[in-house]
Amino acid sequence: MNVLVTGGAGYIGSHAVQRLLRDGHTVFVLDNLVRGHRKALRAIGLGTNDRLRFIEGEVTKPTAITRAFRQLPFDCVMHFAALAYVGESVDQPLRYYDANTTGLLRILQACEKFNVRRLVFSSSCSTYGDPPEGRIPVDEDCPQHPVSPYGRTKLAGEWLIRDFAESRRRAGKPFAYAFLRYFNVCGCDTTGLLGEDHEPETHLVPILLEVALGKRERVDIHGTDYPTPDGTCVRDYVHVEDLIDAHVLAMEKMRDGEGGAYNVGIGKGYSVRQIIESARRVTKHAIPSHEGPRRAGDAAMLYNNPEKIRRELGWSPKHTDLDEIIATAWRWFSANPNGYES
Ligand code: UDP
Repeated sequence: MNVLVTGGAGYIGSHAVQRLLRDGHTVFVLDNLVRGHRKALRAIGLGTNDRLRFIEGEVTKPTAITRAFRQLPFDCVMHFAALAYVGESVDQPLRYYDANTTGLLRILQACEKFNVRRLVFSSSCSTYGDPPEGRIPVDEDCPQHPVSPYGRTKLAGEWLIRDFAESRRRAGKPFAYAFLRYFNVCGCDTTGLLGEDHEPETHLVPILLEVALGKRERVDIHGTDYPTPDGTCVRDYVHVEDLIDAHVLAMEKMRDGEGGAYNVGIGKGYSVRQIIESARRVTKHAIPSHEGPRRAGDAAMLYNNPEKIRRELGWSPKHTDLDEIIATAWRWFSANPNGYES
């Protein structure tokens, strides 16, 4: 297939590009390189593999999008380009709505104009907010009441896509889509080529590894008074390669005009303290921690019920051991202490 990957130079997007190339697809990347890295694309074949091409540009700008869509007749768009920090979204909601919602709107306008009929959309478990009692583990029918602007941009995106798909159905030009509601993505590709390198970094696992590398003094635990077993937030940590597996399965199994939402998480919840303990075991560093206040926009407890994605897409995670998942990230971080600039 010809696949347009927006945000393909970023952490998750680059892992998708690597996998799509490995599977024999032709990949076109559109990325603004604000949080992505040209070096990530070089590591997996930019300049040497003629099935990989790249345009630097904004998904919010019609000119950049039109340029990208003119390159090839795309069979599918994987839309990763987005801002993805819960805390930052509370302070900068307009920036988040612009990047995430306007960006998606522009992609859908181009899908209409260029008659592209398949989309895999990066949604989020944060669209569920704090699930009502009895709804954890979370399944796809859980009510969606996001508690952060980031989560709301992703929920708005889901509705935008549903409405667009309905209009295309009525026009006799069926549009198929999958919303993949990511839980907490972490780990790095097991061949060691690709990593996670964000500026600024706010995600827990990379922060812990930066403390282990001596690049930060300590990790701040954002809240110890949550109604969870040890008082810290509980999340479901899924390896990036398993997440990408879900994208590929969704793309391959998509049927004309049909749409579906799938949670992507392994089905186990770990607290912030458990993640810190795991990072200490894996890195063999002390990783000092400090108990701080809650971070705005965080839900207390979220982990997945993977039943639907197993049943309908045949997905099951290959990486289920927490230490092993974090070890894949540690391998890259310790080999590349300055990220892609190493
Ligand atoms: N977290 C933390 N300290 C940090 C970063 C994150 O305690 O320096 C917590 C955060 O409050 C959340 C969990 O770790 O409960 C996962 O946060 P992350 O930012 O990695 O992912 P998110 O859940 O926001 O997508």
